[in-house]
Amino acid sequence: MKLLYEGKAKRLYEGKAKRLYETEQPDELLMEFKDDATAFNGEKHAQFENKGRMNQAISLLLMQLLEKQGVPTHFVSTVGNIRTIVKNVEIIKIEVVVRNVAAGSLCGRTWLKEGEALKTPLVEWFLKDDDLEDPMINDDHILEMELATADELAFLKSEALKINEILKPFFLKTGLTLIDFKLEFGRLSTDPSTIILADEISPDTCRLWDVTTGEKMDKDRFRRDLGNVMESYAEVLKRAENAVNS
Ligand code: UDP
Repeated sequence: MKLLYEGKAKRLYEGKAKRLYETEQPDELLMEFKDDATAFNGEKHAQFENKGRMNQAISLLLMQLLEKQGVPTHFVSTVGNIRTIVKNVEIIKIEVVVRNVAAGSLCGRTWLKEGEALKTPLVEWFLKDDDLEDPMINDDHILEMELATADELAFLKSEALKINEILKPFFLKTGLTLIDFKLEFGRLSTDPSTIILADEISPDTCRLWDVTTGEKMDKDRFRRDLGNVMESYAEVLKRAENAVNS
């Protein structure tokens, strides 16, 4: 596949952790993982060598696992360590968060305490808007802003729960509890009625705690200055690779 990438490809988008470029095919894009880490809506920023490589490897492994179990994703092929070809989608401006254990913003909004197991997985919607600091929204807000239809919302919820039912036991096999995670979905440029999983699934977008020690193995190490950020990401990758190959 010939890319328009080398030096002259049009950069379509640069986010906090990834860049997107055009390819020669209008229905495909090149996604590049950066080494940057940000938290608190970009207020805290740092660079970690190899973060892009590790996030790509983890995300790829998880997306391939999901594809095998019947969850369509944007992944097409890899182009080296930090770049993948993905299907061109229009991202739906909703961050879909699934939670198995209380942590993070949930504890600031409810009486639930960090580490409390939830009786049933929770699905939450957040508006993907940095200027508004990604506020939590409900179904009515989504319908009012026409971000998705009621049928699409039902699909997003069932797909998110299905993904949780695949990822939770997978991570358990690696000795990690999947506390919560964030997903993004997109509409295919070639067929906007088809919604697929997009973006990434990595320690940047998941909370993962060691089953035995409870140690945090995800971006909270950076958010909370716990140290050993990349060591933890590398450990997640190593365990995931072992679980896939076992
Ligand atoms: N998350 C994310 N991107 C965001 C916000 C949250 O990937 O912009 C992930 C976060 O890493 C965690 C889950 O979504 O795994 C739930 O995050 P929460 O609402 O608790 O927000 P936080 O306190 O992490 O900002």
